[in-house]
Amino acid sequence: MAYDRDNIFAKILRGEIPCAKVFEDDHVLAFEDINPQAPHHVLVIPKGEYVSMDDFSAQASDAEIAAVIRALGHIARELGVAEPGYRILSNCGSDGHQEVPHLHFHLFAGRPLGRMIKPPEKA
Ligand code: 5GP
Repeated sequence: MAYDRDNIFAKILRGEIPCAKVFEDDHVLAFEDINPQAPHHVLVIPKGEYVSMDDFSAQASDAEIAAVIRALGHIARELGVAEPGYRILSNCGSDGHQEVPHLHFHLFAGRPLGRMIKPPEKA
């Protein structure tokens, strides 16, 4: 899928839409989700134009990939949730229910988060 420069996170990166910034470095921006699903719900995004994990994992530089992973750990420590823990999630594509077509990692924390995904309904 081609990158859409009008997606909401591209606008946040350009400063056209405000965000509650949590962290920023050369390769990464992190900000609070507008509709939090947990006491802490942070979105961590690469600054580069990557739609999803598919092209990020294939096209991004080692420095960009390392920056995202380091940012996730750093933010969790800064939030004070390394213990008792947290969840990192990235929805990719339509089956993954990705709504914003700019790669993002959700970091959820601040309460017990339950199972990873809902088990399938029994027939
Ligand atoms: P997805 O379903 O693509 O994994 O998640 C997109 C996330 O972006 C959702 O959790 C949604 O609440 C968040 N979001 C959508 N629009 C905005 C916005 O304008 N600002 C912020 N901070 N978050 C947004």
